[in-house]
Amino acid sequence: MKQFDLEEERVKQEILRLGAKRVLIQLPEGLKPEGLLLAKVVEKTGALPIVSADPCYGACDLATAEAESLGVDLIIHYGHSKLLKYERVPTLYVEARATVKVDVAVEKALPLLEEWHKIGLATTVQHVQTLDGAREILLHAGKTVIIGDAGHVNYPGQVIGCNYSNAKSVADGVEAFLFIGGGRFHALGVALSTSKTTIVADPYEKRAYSVNEEARKILKQRWASIEEAKKAKTFAVLVGLKPGQRRLEEALSIREKLEKNGKATHLFAVRNIHPEVPMEFPTVDAYVNTACPRVSLDDASKFQKPVLTMNETLVAVGELSWEELCRKSLFES
Ligand code: SF4
Repeated sequence: MKQFDLEEERVKQEILRLGAKRVLIQLPEGLKPEGLLLAKVVEKTGALPIVSADPCYGACDLATAEAESLGVDLIIHYGHSKLLKYERVPTLYVEARATVKVDVAVEKALPLLEEWHKIGLATTVQHVQTLDGAREILLHAGKTVIIGDAGHVNYPGQVIGCNYSNAKSVADGVEAFLFIGGGRFHALGVALSTSKTTIVADPYEKRAYSVNEEARKILKQRWASIEEAKKAKTFAVLVGLKPGQRRLEEALSIREKLEKNGKATHLFAVRNIHPEVPMEFPTVDAYVNTACPRVSLDDASKFQKPVLTMNETLVAVGELSWEELCRKSLFES
């Protein structure tokens, strides 16, 4: 059995319904190898499949410009739920729900949740269908369970890399979170956005662990970056070029605040923020990242200069205190 539901039948039906002749298949890193099989599925409908080999980390990175330059009439975007309100090219989102069972990992998380009674549940779109089952296991263990639904993402309990509104909406009413999914990235987002103990139930590795220590280290590192940026004389404000990361207005506003604070500023446009970017401009002392905020946090050790999120920049210019930042969020607008 496949680990993810690629919904081949729905893909075929949608291509036929739209009469699409040229189809761009966009997949996140873990699903890229499936692109070859999916190309065959597309081919069977008579359409020409093109697989995007570029990296794709979120629905913010919809390959609209690429589709337009290739004359594509349908994008099939895998692995994320819809994020952008407007699409210039018709797009079919296939969320690639995981087929793996989560029970064993959730059971393994119970000892780590022993000292807490009220538990919040969070997960990515791949596992939202498992939340009811996970809740049953927790209820059976005598816990109270809350699943947040702030209405800003597609499903209750769902989180995305830069949106933890569901978890935050219930954070005051829970003592700890159980995050269901693989890897630490989203669980760290929950911990950093809510300041609550966060335990991961990883159904792929069938194990459970805490991300608290790592979240504490990131906080310490962010504090150090902000302190360093306060001493910077020249800033560059990075404006993202990906459709869901383009925040020119916010970039201009943050630039104004920096200039009022006596800093010299530049505006840089970027598609991807690589560690090499700060090294190309020796006269720039610090950066403000208005594109994907998680790059600042998760790749911090790779950058040799501070790369602050927009909220962190407000601390650097004295508009927000460190305590307020921690309460608000290091990276969510
Ligand atoms: S901006 Fe970053 S964290 Fe947010 S969806 Fe895009 S890749 Fe993920």
